[in-house]
Amino acid sequence: MSYGDDYKFIPATSVGSGVGFDVLPDIYCHTIQIVNICLVGHPQSDDFVLVDAGMPHSSKEIISVIEERFGENKKPNAIILTHGHFDHVGAIIELVEKWDIPVYAHSLELPFLTGKESYQNPDPTVEGGMIAKMSAMFPKDPINLGDLVKELPSDGTIPHMPGFRWIHTPGHTPGHVSLFRDEDKVLIVGDAFVTVKQEYLYKVITQEQEISGPPRYFTTDWEAARDSVERLAELKPKVAVTGHGLPMTGELLASNLHLLVKDFEQIAKPGYGKYVNEKNN
Ligand SMILES: [Zn+2]
Ligand SMILES: [Zn+2]
Repeated sequence: MSYGDDYKFIPATSVGSGVGFDVLPDIYCHTIQIVNICLVGHPQSDDFVLVDAGMPHSSKEIISVIEERFGENKKPNAIILTHGHFDHVGAIIELVEKWDIPVYAHSLELPFLTGKESYQNPDPTVEGGMIAKMSAMFPKDPINLGDLVKELPSDGTIPHMPGFRWIHTPGHTPGHVSLFRDEDKVLIVGDAFVTVKQEYLYKVITQEQEISGPPRYFTTDWEAARDSVERLAELKPKVAVTGHGLPMTGELLASNLHLLVKDFEQIAKPGYGKYVNEKNN
């Protein structure tokens, strides 16, 4: 297994970095610098999974968060990936080497996780602030997880996540998925939409809560991104845990999602940028 050639530590942080909290009794969200990982399973149980794998060089932090919540030497049954961007797979190799557990992702994301295909370049020219400008340095070469990464079952179920189903939400990446539990309408969104203006350093640092489309510098298909947000809004989630920003719940979530769908062009889609101009969307 190997990381991409451009793998490196990214010096970006937020007030949330190192902080975690219970979203629900069995859903825990922890922020690594500027991205969230999510643990699904009750504290001290043996049955839990890790959703996404943090920033480069964060494996020690992830392991200690897990051992604190579930017990010493505990390991998740699997890692489920919403997608393969560097800030969601940053520590994955150290983790799977330590734990020897499977990783699951959508079939269309596998080329980016098995060393076959690089993501398109992030767009530092996209409308946005300092983080967008910084994105030129973000790794985009594929990691290679070899046989350890497996395709999510085509029937929508998620291994080791009973009650959840995956929903294909492309646009930000081709094989992006969000995870939904019908029983209590909790949605693990990934980057299909986020609750912080991820392109702006100040907003990322302060984690000011504000609905936003997928992080702009990495989003290449805005048409698909909009369809994905609509699909998620139709589920009427009660709780949304996003890849970036604080979780959003209840009426605030409902009204913000409604707004995002209605005004997607204004709120989400950048006014200019490489992937807005290049494509006819
Ligand atoms: Zn992403
Ligand atoms: Zn992300």
